Amino acid sequence: MQVPFLDLKRVNESFGIELEEAFKRVHQSGWFIQGKELELFESEFADYSEVSHCVGVGNGLEAIHLLLKAYGIGPGDEVIVPSNTFIATWLAVTECGAIPVPAEPDPKTHNISIHAIEAALTPKTVAIIPVHLYGQPADMDPILALADKYGLVVIEDAAQAQGAKYKGRRIGGLGHAGATSFYPGKNLGALGDGGAVLTNDSEIAAKVRKLRNYGSKVKYQHDVLGYNSRLDELQAAFLRVKLRRLDDDNQVRKNIANHYSYCLSNSDLILPDVPDWADPVWHLYVIRTKNRDNLQQYLRSHGVETLVHYPIPPHQQECYATMKFKPLPIAEQFAEQVLSLPISSVICDTDLNYVVSLLKDFRA
Ligand SMILES: *Cc1c(COP(=O)(O)O)cnc(C)c1O
Repeated sequence: MQVPFLDLKRVNESFGIELEEAFKRVHQSGWFIQGKELELFESEFADYSEVSHCVGVGNGLEAIHLLLKAYGIGPGDEVIVPSNTFIATWLAVTECGAIPVPAEPDPKTHNISIHAIEAALTPKTVAIIPVHLYGQPADMDPILALADKYGLVVIEDAAQAQGAKYKGRRIGGLGHAGATSFYPGKNLGALGDGGAVLTNDSEIAAKVRKLRNYGSKVKYQHDVLGYNSRLDELQAAFLRVKLRRLDDDNQVRKNIANHYSYCLSNSDLILPDVPDWADPVWHLYVIRTKNRDNLQQYLRSHGVETLVHYPIPPHQQECYATMKFKPLPIAEQFAEQVLSLPISSVICDTDLNYVVSLLKDFRA
């Protein structure tokens, strides 16, 4: 039996002819950049995310980068980021010339710890980027209180958590602004690259709109140095189709996660911990074990594909060697112990039960 980590072909096939109809609509319109589909998607995704503005951009990294730019963050500024995240969160900061200052996670939730944030504060701190990692909301209230006290900007990295809720409210619009990604494997994935900025701040939304489009609001007038980072009409049209089913797809992921947690509760594996205020959307189901490499090899030999998110934490990446970050023991331990089990909106019960039975049989 073969169980892939994520079968994107099946995910997209499950939308039947709807995606092909979206393609036809854009194809026949003859309009491919900044048109009706983008406008409609932006308004639909803003409503879904409970914010007043959504600005479609080229990808998730650019969504964070353009937000940092819109807030005027640059050289000399420090931005607190999780030590345990995909490197894009850090790259957006260094792309602006600012300094990423890592904060370690809470070992139970894997999300950024408020105590670590407090310890990382300096007079140069201007912003915090909490990541709703694996689809689980970060604990936003203490972060927002701290930000308020010190006058810091809070940008949520919501790339892994479309649809998740924190204390009953959608993530993405809880801080000053949020950034998300529609990379094909995300919970709301396009058929190519895509991303968006979410905010209730109309001034910031207008700035990002300009920045994504060569620094221009009126054609051929450029009042700021901008970029080309846009969500194209085809991707917007596909995303409109997929957004309509996002809550249902996330419910399927929740059922899978609950099944894993229920069946594996007596094992030696460290399972995801969900605080009672969190309504996660399970972009990833991440377990921890000291025998990670053996377990992965064992599953692979039985046809089950798992992944490691992430094998090398950002501060240990070659690209940051000159910045000489101090050791970050929790992130480093996670890199050695985490394993992501197959999860998606299209895994069938047979596959799921097969994975569970293998995990139950595993002896280190
Ligand atoms: C995927 C991801 C990004 C980057 O999104 P891209 O669209 O691939 O640029 C940023 N942050 C996190 C946490 C991600 O998982």
